[in-house]
Amino acid sequence: HLDVIEAAEPTIKAFLKVSSDEALEQADAFDKLSADEKAAMPELAGVPIAVKDMIVTKGIETTAASKILEGWVPPYDSTVVERLKAAGMPILGKTNLDEFAMGSSTEHSAFQNTANPWNTGCVPGGSGGGSAAAVAAFEAPLALGTDTGGSIRQPGAFTGTVGVKPTYGGVSRYGAIAMASSLDQIGPATRSVLDSALLYEIIGGHDLRDSTSIPAGPRPAAAAAREGARRDLKGMKVGLIREISGTGDAFEPEVTAHFNACVKMLEDMGAEVIEVSVPRIDYSLGAYYIVMPSEASSNLARYDGMRYGLRVMPPAGVPQTAANMMSATREAGFGDEVKRRIILGTYALSAGYYDAWYGSAQKVRTLIIDDFNKAFEQADVLVCPTAPTTAFEFGSKIDDPMAMYVNDIATIPANLAGLPAMSIPSGVASNGLPTGFQFVAPQQKDEVMYKAAAALE
Ligand code: GLN
Repeated sequence: HLDVIEAAEPTIKAFLKVSSDEALEQADAFDKLSADEKAAMPELAGVPIAVKDMIVTKGIETTAASKILEGWVPPYDSTVVERLKAAGMPILGKTNLDEFAMGSSTEHSAFQNTANPWNTGCVPGGSGGGSAAAVAAFEAPLALGTDTGGSIRQPGAFTGTVGVKPTYGGVSRYGAIAMASSLDQIGPATRSVLDSALLYEIIGGHDLRDSTSIPAGPRPAAAAAREGARRDLKGMKVGLIREISGTGDAFEPEVTAHFNACVKMLEDMGAEVIEVSVPRIDYSLGAYYIVMPSEASSNLARYDGMRYGLRVMPPAGVPQTAANMMSATREAGFGDEVKRRIILGTYALSAGYYDAWYGSAQKVRTLIIDDFNKAFEQADVLVCPTAPTTAFEFGSKIDDPMAMYVNDIATIPANLAGLPAMSIPSGVASNGLPTGFQFVAPQQKDEVMYKAAAALE
């Protein structure tokens, strides 16, 4: 894989840092284990992996693709990375993303653009474009991402890979750089559903260091994927989410056509397909773009020039105070999209506006959860396209934040409701780019989507 990385990186640019020395050391250590020791490890033991640069790695620079963290070398490992190491999985490097995971194209990275391996004139999606591109380009067999509003799934759809956001609380967030804490979740980016399930079982399960971590082991995803691979879905009820089932202007016709073809395949395998309604899903985007910036503005307050990375002193002639140093640091260290969201978030949280904005958005969120609960009374798993479009060209949405935000229309609802969701490839459109099919399962029923996805794969 290090050889593939060397050959592919000049065009793909999926990695912000390749940690070859560490990876080779970890691989050597794994090789030295006895056959008995290896047999006792998970099935993916020894398989290398790439990690989104939003997840901290001890001794390996971690930047969240932001200038404000440039040069920061974490003194500790995130829980997921600890678990990868315990499974003998070498870390190939840190992958590119939109700065602090804010974006849908990876173009907001402070350092580089990542190309879509299917068409290098197009974006790989975002924010986890680096992880998805690395997996799609065979630079890494597996990768980790973080998903706050679709950042594992939408890049999965854009690169023809499998992207999963587990149930909120299913995977520890300890050591994941916080974007919006009530929405953030770490998950796998892989080329197959079974790989995803096996990786999820390694990183998932209770962790005392994350207070929102569910006190239980990971869900039985791998067994479900193996069962699904037999392509018998008799007894499973699949609900088509009416409001985002691919009709309407936002959806490219071929995305919808591939989605419908996959629904037909589920039916052919014995699933009962019905239409369900999640009526208030239309308010998801609005609620998300209040809740997310509010939490992000609060989380990003820690980048003050004191604790981590960059420090910029005020220019000559300006009083050299701590407050001025913080302003100068944040002005130089954060990119435009991050600043835009900090402004939105601090506004929504400010006295006098809190109830009108943040309070209302949280209420809307509860209504959306209620709608999903009702839909799950009728169906075991819900389906919709992952993203309304295939990968778009570089530059085509970068100056229009609203156009970029709208691409998240089908991924955001699962984050708001804490539900597990997964994107798998559904075909290739006539423009030569892959399309994505999304499953959404009830909380802590991740195995249901793994079973259905493995059947469809
Ligand atoms: N596109 C979403 C956003 O910009 C993705 C966020 C995420 O999942 N990290 O907020």
